[in-house]
Amino acid sequence: MKREIIEVEFSVLENGFDFIHKATKQLVDLQSNGTNVDVDNLKQALKYAVLNLSSGIELIFKHCLFDSHWTYVFQDMNKSDKESLNKGHFISVNSETAILRLEKFCEIELTQKNKDTYKKLREYRNKLEHFNCKMHVGAVENLLHNNISLIAKFVSEHAIKSGYTEKEKIMLQRIKDALLLLDDYYEEVKNLAASEAKHYIEGTLGITYHDIQNGEGYPLCECPECDNKTLVVDSEKGIGICFYCESEYSASDFNNCGICGKLFYNHGEWGAMCDECSEEKMRRE
Ligand SMILES: [Zn+2]
Ligand SMILES: [Zn+2]
Repeated sequence: MKREIIEVEFSVLENGFDFIHKATKQLVDLQSNGTNVDVDNLKQALKYAVLNLSSGIELIFKHCLFDSHWTYVFQDMNKSDKESLNKGHFISVNSETAILRLEKFCEIELTQKNKDTYKKLREYRNKLEHFNCKMHVGAVENLLHNNISLIAKFVSEHAIKSGYTEKEKIMLQRIKDALLLLDDYYEEVKNLAASEAKHYIEGTLGITYHDIQNGEGYPLCECPECDNKTLVVDSEKGIGICFYCESEYSASDFNNCGICGKLFYNHGEWGAMCDECSEEKMRRE
């Protein structure tokens, strides 16, 4: 049988969308299969979703840089030349530099929160590639979902200058459709986790709204792993548990903010301030 020669050519954007769509689909499949997924398959799916998503986001950033000027995709811009670019023989810009260049040369600014979210994903990717990585399933799912939202928003806000091909349009739409499903699903999971946390505080710890009024302090705070306000600190047992991602901490990692009294993660330093209060202080100074 004669085999036809197929030309394989993808644009950077197409490649980026493809990786992101793969990651999104992996996450959607995990949700629809629910508890039928065994642990090994779950670990595999999450691992590849992290790797795919991280590569996908990196490619979108590179595409935006390329859109502004082709030399921006070289890690060392002094070594940029068209021949190496066309052959693909060059060291391309790393993620950290890519973000700096997006801000400096392309007037595309990422919020600190978005930068942190993407950085966390890259840290997971590095751990997965090189080391044995212990992961909390809920935390990784949350991180994936946040990064998919981030890049979908990024793409729509900084509409790619060169426009989209028909194929790219279809791929982007697929990502958006899958993201809608994920948004609904995780919204529900978060609400459930929040009510489980409340139930634990009232039922097991016996702390009610009345106690808070008396200044006892509500033992609920933002989880450092998944950023959801679903972490309960049980001082009697000496632990902090997140009802969303199941991360566990020592109760001594948390403290009440010296200014507003709110419980927050600070490795137990006394008199320290929560993020909001220190931001507020910086704004005033
Ligand atoms: Zn958590
Ligand atoms: Zn505070």
